[in-house]
Amino acid sequence: MAPKDAKFEEADESLILDSISKWLERDVAPYAMELEHSDTYPTDMVEQMKDMGLFGATIGQEWGGLGLSASTYAKIVTKVSEEWMSLTGVFNSHLMMATAVEKFGTEEQKQRFLPRFVTGELRGGIGLTEPDAGTDLQGIRTRAVRDGDDYVINGTKTWITNSIEGTCFALLTKTDINADPPRQGMSMFIVEKGEGFSISKRLEKLGYKGIDSGEMVFEDFRVPAENLIGGEEGQGFYQAVGGLELGRINVASRSVGIAKRALDEAVRYSQERSTFGKPIYKHQAIQLKLAEMATRYEASRLLVEQAAKAYDEGRRCDLEAGMAKYHASESAIENSLEAMRIHGGYGYSKEFIVERLYRDAPLMAIGEGTNEMQKVIIARQLIERNKI
Ligand SMILES: Cc1cc2nc3c(=O)[nH]c(=O)nc-3n(C[C@H](O)[C@H](O)[C@H](O)COP(=O)(O)OP(=O)(O)OC[C@H]3O[C@@H](n4cnc5c(N)ncnc54)[C@H](O)[C@@H]3O)c2cc1C
Repeated sequence: MAPKDAKFEEADESLILDSISKWLERDVAPYAMELEHSDTYPTDMVEQMKDMGLFGATIGQEWGGLGLSASTYAKIVTKVSEEWMSLTGVFNSHLMMATAVEKFGTEEQKQRFLPRFVTGELRGGIGLTEPDAGTDLQGIRTRAVRDGDDYVINGTKTWITNSIEGTCFALLTKTDINADPPRQGMSMFIVEKGEGFSISKRLEKLGYKGIDSGEMVFEDFRVPAENLIGGEEGQGFYQAVGGLELGRINVASRSVGIAKRALDEAVRYSQERSTFGKPIYKHQAIQLKLAEMATRYEASRLLVEQAAKAYDEGRRCDLEAGMAKYHASESAIENSLEAMRIHGGYGYSKEFIVERLYRDAPLMAIGEGTNEMQKVIIARQLIERNKI
């Protein structure tokens, strides 16, 4: 895919989606099952994603990226997730790091990092979560202390996507542990692997296999002060939260992909399998399930479309992104379970993809802010927008 120089047109979008579909059919579908079951990193697919420009999908064209809108990007993520959701984590976490630099970085940081993020020469993700703090980001303990032209970082980050295969991360730290409120003492850095930055373990997971999730340890790790995103201390919390709307739209898009694939598998299987002398789709109990699954999928897709549109128009969209993420992820969980039930015993077999969808779906309710938190955000915004 080549970078676009005019405003993104619908025709371009369908060209991109078409080439993604062909790639999925040719290079992903035949191998995904085996790689997933053996929890093997999809090295070849990552290289192919690099060639397709996915590592620069949302990065601006002035930096060599494709500069795709959130709306188009969401459709790509959904499509890839219909085949293998794990693959989207490889480029999405990377793009969240890139978004932090593009949105909040200094001009010098943009020039230094963005072109190398686009090509995938530098690849990585975003390090927020710690063993003792996930939802409550202000409770993190990783510290960055100024020392001459450097900052010295000590702390541990856990559950970090791409931490083992990647080399570069946007890292949330505390530069002032006495700040009140604590968020005002938080700062984000771009860190590249080097002395004092190690991986203490690879985390084993229920699903989301193939892609690496690990624990990163910083012991007197030195990072140049010029890597402080935006060049000013105390902005890290806002920078981290500022990227979450896009992150939530992404998780919602992944969920739509899972919900859709579960529906497609159920619709197909219910026509192939017969009991009591007729295909199972003729039993009303199965029809009810199919109807509910299809409705959940469509509603989720439309919520994502609405959230992505608001994001593209530059409108505040935490309510829209929260609703999309909450509804789509719950739909992915429900649809994957219903697809499994419709497949009967075969749904529990590793030979069928529904078993994988069922293991992948619950992550969508946790990542980029748990669904409990999404409901809190939605409610807060409801009041904010409807003050009496
Ligand atoms: C596979 C995987 C990949 C991940 N990738 C990354 C990554 O790349 N980078 C990264 O930084 N993190 C990553 N995470 C971490 C993820 O973002 C956190 O797990 C998530 O934010 C939840 O934090 P926690 O696990 O500490 O749960 P906790 O914050 O301890 O929450 C526990 C429970 O309490 C609820 N809860 C907490 N506070 C409230 C509240 N105020 N009101 C209501 N309910 C509340 C939560 O909803 C949840 O049900 C990943 C996690 C997984 C599993």
